[in-house]
Amino acid sequence: MEGLRNTTEEDVEEMLNRLLPTMPNVCSCETCRLDMATYALNRLKPNYVRSDKGALFHKVDISAPQAKTDILATVVNAISIISAHPNHD
Ligand SMILES: [Zn+2]
Repeated sequence: MEGLRNTTEEDVEEMLNRLLPTMPNVCSCETCRLDMATYALNRLKPNYVRSDKGALFHKVDISAPQAKTDILATVVNAISIISAHPNHD
């Protein structure tokens, strides 16, 4: 929806970008990255914030430290599941 963004989606993408380069044995092609993000995002709570102009002055990071830990654990899990069963040869 226009005017909304899900910060969990951005966090998952950021963690994939940080973790995958440290895992040379894991395929990090676009297909696998999308599968990993899908797996993780279907298991995490979304965190929607307004992204329209009116929200600019209220842009705060409301995600709690526990949420980041959950995201990290779920992304690590997603990487191990998808890399064991990639959707390609
Ligand atoms: Zn791949």
